[in-house]
Amino acid sequence: MKNRSAAEKMLLIFSAFAAITISPFIYLRWLDGDMVMASIDAALMLATAVFFVFVYYTRKVNTAKLTLAIFLSIAIVTIVAIRGQSHLFWLYPSMIAFFYMLSARSAGIICFVAIMLIAITLFPTSSTLEFLTLNFSLFLTAVFSYVIFDNYNKTNSKLTLLASIDPLTLSGNRRALDIKLEKILINQKRAYSNVSLLLVDVDHFKQINDNYGHASGDKVLVELVALIQKHSRSLDDLYRYGGEEFILLPLNVNLAEAKPVAEKLCTLIAESTFVDDIAVTVSIGVAQYRADETAEAWISRADAALYLAKDSGRNCVVVEKTVAEKAS
Ligand code: GH3
Ligand code: MG
Ligand code: MG
Repeated sequence: MKNRSAAEKMLLIFSAFAAITISPFIYLRWLDGDMVMASIDAALMLATAVFFVFVYYTRKVNTAKLTLAIFLSIAIVTIVAIRGQSHLFWLYPSMIAFFYMLSARSAGIICFVAIMLIAITLFPTSSTLEFLTLNFSLFLTAVFSYVIFDNYNKTNSKLTLLASIDPLTLSGNRRALDIKLEKILINQKRAYSNVSLLLVDVDHFKQINDNYGHASGDKVLVELVALIQKHSRSLDDLYRYGGEEFILLPLNVNLAEAKPVAEKLCTLIAESTFVDDIAVTVSIGVAQYRADETAEAWISRADAALYLAKDSGRNCVVVEKTVAEKAS
């Protein structure tokens, strides 16, 4: 259970719980001589057990959620058709659950079809007033669920975005960087490939702040990020690692191939104009990921290369020494 997502856990717990709680009902219905309901309960128990096994082994959560919603609606409509409208109450919480689990579109379609089928089933047996009350209340439950969960999903997406970007520069923040690094390391464990990172540090930034003011320093950072992002579509993501330090990754190349990319970036920045005509240069340290190392070890090798770049007069790129070079 440890490495499973919240959605997977929810589906597993739900199906296990449903299979266990339905089973005594099969026996009770059978004792009562109600073979129709006993068979329906038996089918439900079997389906939830199969569902549990499916989620447990395949981990296909989205398929499982959709199947569960379709299956539950069919089961409820069938029971209402056989046993009458008192069993309809199960559809209300189920519809809310569909909007929680699925996209608004999928949930909307399933609810619409279920409500239509219920209407066709109940029309001949109930009075007009009862018929309208039942169908309107079902319809309203679906509409309210749609509005509430649509709002909830939009707010969630906004919060997720806000939690991952640096508010000043709009580059990725440390949290987003950590998540990205974790993903890269997982992929590297599966299949090792060449991947390099660039650690970019603005030269003498403290002087920029001292000479032009903190507000101009802020603008320089904003413009710098915009400039890098504009010219690094193929490079993927830029993250703010610290005050005036940024990490660009993943470069899906080895050190020799990463070096000209970093040099091009270094030249581009040195030749660009920034707010108040401030001249900005950067130093860049480049390091390639080595099998089985931690993200901290990887970054600290880039940091060591950056330190050498600063030591060599700044506005330049230093590529970390490879293991082979160090040995010789
Ligand atoms: P070096 O070339 O060795 O990197 O020198 P440096 O002056 O860039 O390095 P140092 O680490 O001494 O100074 C970094 C400065 O960056 C200090 C800090 O006040 C400034 N800084 C950090 N975050 C921000 C920020 O968000 N806005 C502004 N304006 N300045 C910042
Ligand atoms: Mg600096
Ligand atoms: Mg620094």
